[in-house]
Amino acid sequence: MAVPGEKPPPTGLAETELFATDAYRRSFDATVLQVDREQGRVALARTAFYPGGGGQPHDLGTLGWGSGSAPVTKVRREGGLIWHWLDTPEPPDTRTEVFGELDWDRRHLLMRTHTALHILCGVIWTEFAVAVTGGNMDPGKGRLDFPLESMSTELGQRVERRINDEIAAAREVVVTFLGRSAADEDPALIRTSANLIPAEIDPLRVIDIVGLDKQADGGTHVLSTAEVGSVAVTGTESKGKGNKRIRLEVGQPLA
Ligand SMILES: [Zn+2]
Repeated sequence: MAVPGEKPPPTGLAETELFATDAYRRSFDATVLQVDREQGRVALARTAFYPGGGGQPHDLGTLGWGSGSAPVTKVRREGGLIWHWLDTPEPPDTRTEVFGELDWDRRHLLMRTHTALHILCGVIWTEFAVAVTGGNMDPGKGRLDFPLESMSTELGQRVERRINDEIAAAREVVVTFLGRSAADEDPALIRTSANLIPAEIDPLRVIDIVGLDKQADGGTHVLSTAEVGSVAVTGTESKGKGNKRIRLEVGQPLA
């Protein structure tokens, strides 16, 4: 289905930042572009390792090459490169062919968690017309803050039911790249402050939980809300006047 204003991904993105266009890619071949022996890290010509950002932690996994292999302990975007920290005294040299493999159980749990948090945003917007102001995410659990006047256990239970209804509805989760002129006029993106992103970033990568929530987002998500499984609201807290926190955990599908 054509989305108005939809553009192809930025040139080269699908070939270099594999996670940006295929969240289900769990292994890949690549060439070492640069080695930083002091910090024990390598930059690769392409990678499926998410470097962290937008609240989603970086991936973990392993890198293998001709004579060795090492756990990837940290990944970060820096100076236009994605660096992979390796737990080895001898990282591979520049131009070495390597094979990368994600800790897929952890990454897939992060994808379910991230999508669950977007469902929470959509539910709170539908019920109260307020947008998220902050948050945090770990594999399997996360929290978001909203500018709400009041919070209660009952409200938390109602939100939990609404989230699980959206999971049962198996809404499609679509990744698109939207041109800035279209994105800056989209009411759903305006309310999630996408218009505050620097204008040079064009197109915007957009995660659309069709009919529920749409955000400019660099993270990795599941393909359908059904894949989240189930969500439990594990805490509701007041962080002060007009600032309320909701914590959630993802679990297996409800019976
Ligand atoms: Zn997000």
